[in-house]
Amino acid sequence: MTKHQILLGVFLLGLTIALDSSAGTTQSLADQSCNPPAKQEPAPKPKPALAGRRILVDAGHGGTDPGAMRAGVEEKDITLDVSLKLRARLENLGARVDMTRDSDVFIPLPDRLAASNTSCPDLFVSVHVNAVSKPSITGIETYYYDDRGQNLANVVLNTVSSQLHETAKWSHSRDLFVLDGNRVPATLAEIGYITNPGTRAKLNNPAYQDKVASALADSVVTYLESPGAEHGCSV
Ligand SMILES: [Zn+2]
Repeated sequence: MTKHQILLGVFLLGLTIALDSSAGTTQSLADQSCNPPAKQEPAPKPKPALAGRRILVDAGHGGTDPGAMRAGVEEKDITLDVSLKLRARLENLGARVDMTRDSDVFIPLPDRLAASNTSCPDLFVSVHVNAVSKPSITGIETYYYDDRGQNLANVVLNTVSSQLHETAKWSHSRDLFVLDGNRVPATLAEIGYITNPGTRAKLNNPAYQDKVASALADSVVTYLESPGAEHGCSV
C-alpha cells in the first residue's frame, strides 16, 4: 500500500465516523422535536390535614395569675410557650387558630369561655401544667365536661402520653370553668407536673415544648379524622 492509499484510507475512515455521529445527532434532535416527552402534570398538592378548621387554643393562667410555681418556674410561662408553638403547628396544617391570650396577660375565665361560645371554633384546647405535693409524681392528664369533649380528651391523653413517653394517668370528667358550658368539644390538658424536677426541666426547654405542641397538634388531627368526630358549636 502506498503512502497515498494509507492517507486516503484514514481520510475515508474519519469521514465515515463523522457522518455516523452527525446522523446520530440529527436522529436524536429529530426524536426530541417530533416526539417531545409527555408533559409531566404536577402532582396535585395534598390538602392540609386541618384545612378549613378553626381551633381555639387556651394558654392557662397569665399576667397576675402565675398558676403553679416551683423553683422559679411558672406555669403561665410554660402554657404560653407551648400554646404559641401549638398555634404555629396547627397553622402549618392549614387551621385558623385563635388564642385566648398570646402574651403574658390576665384573662378572666368567663372571657375565655365566652371567646369559645361566641366564635364557635371546631375545638377548644386548654393547656395547663399540673402540681402536687409529692415530687415523684409524673404523667399526663386530660379533662372534659360532657360527652362531646370525652373523645377529644381521650385522644389527647393517648397521643400526648405516647409521644412524650409519659404515663397516661387519666382522662376525667371535671366541672372546670372553661369546660362546663363550652358549646364546642373541649378538653383541658395537664401536660406534666411542674413539681417533678425532671419534668420541670423538660417543660422549661423549648425543644421539649415543641414536642408537646407537636403531640397536641397530632391529637387534633387524629380526633378530627376519626369517624363521626363532633366539632363546632352544639345548638
Ligand atoms: Zn393550670
